[in-house]
Amino acid sequence: MSDVLGLADPLDDELVCSGKGCRAVATWGLLWNNPKIHTPQRRKVWLACDDHREHLETFLGARDFLRATVPVSDLEQRTAP
Ligand SMILES: [Zn+2]
Repeated sequence: MSDVLGLADPLDDELVCSGKGCRAVATWGLLWNNPKIHTPQRRKVWLACDDHREHLETFLGARDFLRATVPVSDLEQRTAP
């Protein structure tokens, strides 16, 4: 899936945090789903550095969108063919 924030792009080795204005390397992947627009199995991914993980989790959690937080290394395994 190419909409997983460029994880499939071989030129983009570094996973950058999704925090606004943040250029830090992401260490966490937040898996989320908006039941109003996504099918239940669908997972969108936000990347987060250690500093922004909690902020992004709170943001998604408040909307009941957050499904799981996994280390980026797990994320790469999940999205591998
Ligand atoms: Zn960040």
